Amino acid sequence: MNIECNRLDRGYQLYKEEFDSKAIEVLNSGWYILGRELENFEKQFADFLGAKYCVGVASGLDALIMAVRLLDIGKGDEVIVQGNTYIASVMGITLNGATPVFVEPNKYNNIDADKIEERITEKTKAIMVVHLYGQASKMDTIVRLAHKYNLQIIEDCAQSHGATFQNQMTGTFGAFGCFSFYPTKNLGAFGDAGALVTDNEELYQKAKILRNYGSDRKNHFLIEGMNSRLDEMQAGLLSVRLKHIKELNMERNTISHRYHNEIHNSLIEKPQMEGGATSVWHQYVIHTAYRTKLIEYLKSRNIQTMIHYPIPPHLSDSYQNLNIARGSLPVTEKFADEVLSLPIYNGMKKEEIDYVIDCINQFTLS
Ligand SMILES: *Cc1c(COP(=O)(O)O)cnc(C)c1O
Repeated sequence: MNIECNRLDRGYQLYKEEFDSKAIEVLNSGWYILGRELENFEKQFADFLGAKYCVGVASGLDALIMAVRLLDIGKGDEVIVQGNTYIASVMGITLNGATPVFVEPNKYNNIDADKIEERITEKTKAIMVVHLYGQASKMDTIVRLAHKYNLQIIEDCAQSHGATFQNQMTGTFGAFGCFSFYPTKNLGAFGDAGALVTDNEELYQKAKILRNYGSDRKNHFLIEGMNSRLDEMQAGLLSVRLKHIKELNMERNTISHRYHNEIHNSLIEKPQMEGGATSVWHQYVIHTAYRTKLIEYLKSRNIQTMIHYPIPPHLSDSYQNLNIARGSLPVTEKFADEVLSLPIYNGMKKEEIDYVIDCINQFTLS
């Protein structure tokens, strides 16, 4: 048996006929950018989340960049974000000239809400919440703090399509929910794609203008905008996948339950759940002090694993200008050394899950 960390072809095969017929329909339509497929998808995705508006954009990173910009956050402003996130969350802040202020994660791998208040200053404008690996962050505390200090909330939901906190969908707690539909995400396109979600009509109108060259009608350019549109092909294919998102998330949930119930090995720590939160299991991430050995062992059994993420943003080459020394974020840095993502994907076969569990249970240091 050979087990990849992800198998995008399996996800395609699950609904091959529907994807194929939608692709041909879009090709035949003769309309490829800003059309009916996008409008339909935006409506369906907003409905799925219980949000008022959705604006399709070109990527998750663009959604983050646009959210920060539309809230007028820039040079001289600070945005609070967790240290152990993907680089894109931080780029959404810094590409607008604003400064990221990192907060350590809790044992659920999300921002430690109890450590936010001590990092708030006069310059703080927003809290960017990343629902990492698919699990919702502790939104009751975060919403309370945002009210108390008059801060915006921007949610990075690139990994959390359908995850809830106290029965409310991630992406609907603040000014903007930012989604990625990168092919590996729970709701994945067949190329790059993303979306902004908001309940604020004014922000919605501004987002539509910003994504399309700053234009509200042909040849009128109100602001210096971007070209960040979600094309008709991706929108059509995403609406096919969105129809099945509940069963797709359920399947990931079933795999994670099997890992949770059947993996027994004192050398690893399985993921834990925050009270009130659900996870859509974008990744199943264990912690282990014996990571290098475990990776080698699993590789020898033909099981691939991944690390999300081995270098935290503050230590990456691209952010040396922030001048945040190693040792400044000890929990974040420790997590970078011990997290490991096990294979989990739609279309994973029962015998593949069995095999991963068996191999991990047999892992020893000798
Ligand atoms: C994937 C991802 C992004 C970026 O999405 P793209 O569509 O690749 O630009 C942002 N934040 C997180 C947490 C992600 O996992």
